[in-house]
Amino acid sequence: MKILAQVAMVMNLDKCIGCNTCSVTCKQTWTNRDGIEYAWFNNVESKPGIGFPKAWEDQSQWRGGWKLDAHGRLTLVAGSKLGRFLGLPAPRHLPGLEDYGEPTTYDWDTLLSAPAGTDMPVARPLDALSGQPRPITWGVNWEDSLAGSPQFANLDPNLRAISQQVSEAIDQTFLFHLPRICNHCLNPACVASCPSGAMFKRQADGIVLVDQNACRGWRLCVKGCPYKKTYINHRSGKAEKCTFCFPRIEEGLPTVCAETCSGRMRYIGLVLYDLDRVEAAASIRDPKQLLAAQRLVFADPNDPEVVANALANGVAEDWLEAARRSPVWALINRFQVALPLHPEFRTLPMVWYIPPLSPVLDATAAFGGDNTEADDVARTVAQLRIPMEYLAQLFTGGDVSAVAGVLMKLSAMRTHMRNVTVKHEVDEPLLAAVKTTAADLEALYRLLAIAKPADRFVIPLAHNEDARRLAGWQSGCALDQAGGPGMSHRPTMAVSS
Ligand code: SF4
Ligand code: SF4
Repeated sequence: MKILAQVAMVMNLDKCIGCNTCSVTCKQTWTNRDGIEYAWFNNVESKPGIGFPKAWEDQSQWRGGWKLDAHGRLTLVAGSKLGRFLGLPAPRHLPGLEDYGEPTTYDWDTLLSAPAGTDMPVARPLDALSGQPRPITWGVNWEDSLAGSPQFANLDPNLRAISQQVSEAIDQTFLFHLPRICNHCLNPACVASCPSGAMFKRQADGIVLVDQNACRGWRLCVKGCPYKKTYINHRSGKAEKCTFCFPRIEEGLPTVCAETCSGRMRYIGLVLYDLDRVEAAASIRDPKQLLAAQRLVFADPNDPEVVANALANGVAEDWLEAARRSPVWALINRFQVALPLHPEFRTLPMVWYIPPLSPVLDATAAFGGDNTEADDVARTVAQLRIPMEYLAQLFTGGDVSAVAGVLMKLSAMRTHMRNVTVKHEVDEPLLAAVKTTAADLEALYRLLAIAKPADRFVIPLAHNEDARRLAGWQSGCALDQAGGPGMSHRPTMAVSS
């Protein structure tokens, strides 16, 4: 057993309104610079849809993530170390600018300086790199709210895995938004792909970063990441990625995307995990068993043996206390309502999602049921092939029963709160049906419905005293460094005190 701490996030998809505030505030903070205009460390996709970059989930096209070889050993889909090296300096299977969307600006001057007239002046789109007029044909949010889905839905790998018929009628079926950042995975394929050792995972908090001095711009991290969350800065020739806003996290503040989220749908906290279980959990052959295996990697911060081991590995007392209060630990393991995105990529992502209940509630009402009654919702869950199978493709390696179990618990929570506040009664068979207690459902309700920032973000201060002393760390804002925000020097908080 080797217990370490990881800062992690849960997103409640029912509360995402697709406003993209998170995308814009992240961009203003991290990628509003030359060379990285096309990149969105945080993007919000409409599902069903092919996302950003185009069809990123289709590993038959991009060859990202891990697979098991004939002996059941984990190996990168991108191939052996030698094979990857021989493919340099021009690795194949990389998305091009046309897959991300060409960076675009607008002819703002026309708006500002057009003389008074009878027509409204129009700012035409310009290529942000050349300044020349260029029509926009694709972009980060091109499919917003299913725009163009009849045209693109057939390319969504999650739909293709279900059936062609469903994808043809998808724009009449359901919609939800899926915000995405780097998952700061426990088994990051980007780190394993990097031949320069530039991509690394901090031991203290598990944040995955790029050492800008060591990066040689081979782009193998872009290929290796199955979520396509590393990007090449075309000006510097180096890789960049979501930093989980580590300068803020070290000060106990939430990431910019989480703090500015209009839907208040993001939760940040610590989880403890057993490093010795990571490889075995990623190597389970049956994709439907990966969710259970990945949950078992997490360690209970109330277990004395876990606490002793964590202390021996340098996890500080106040971090253990934060892990006990962590909303992320609660949503993933205590309430078991959060699920990992594409566990079959075998990277063990550390951003988990509460699947959306709204499409099921809409369907319940459409079938003539009462969507505040758990029984009616349960009947709908049992009948629905969509979106249950679709959500299972996204979050459980195809295990529909795991998704249905989460949605039933969320539905039971709503019904229970209505029962106790309106009817002043507790429905014991309902609690038994979802194997939970009234106290647990009420605690889940407080966390999902009315939690204050102090409950949604439980982030301990970093212990970088020793790191600063050992490496001559310069205090100050990491965003001020030349050559890229926060990444011009290798961050030195590699181990906690
Ligand atoms: S999601 Fe992030 S940590 Fe995981 S493989 Fe991709 S870049 Fe690496
Ligand atoms: S700011 Fe929040 S609600 Fe808006 S798109 Fe982002 S995650 Fe969704």
